[in-house]
Amino acid sequence: MVVKGYCMKCGKENKENGKGKEMKDAKMTKTSRGGFMAKGKCSTCGSGMCAIMSKDNAEKAVADGDAEKTY
Ligand SMILES: [Zn+2]
Repeated sequence: MVVKGYCMKCGKENKENGKGKEMKDAKMTKTSRGGFMAKGKCSTCGSGMCAIMSKDNAEKAVADGDAEKTY
């Protein structure tokens, strides 16, 4: 499952442009509150981005090899 998130840079001019960007080099981390967050780079512009993930989606992305498990 490819990780997607919001890219601040791509959405700078128009918010819609920043939505649903695929994340490269995604690393899955756990937040202090027990949630999941993916951190990586925007596949369009290469700037850093992160996305809040549900547990299901986080585990799927790790199982599929689309995100590196770092928790
Ligand atoms: Zn971008």
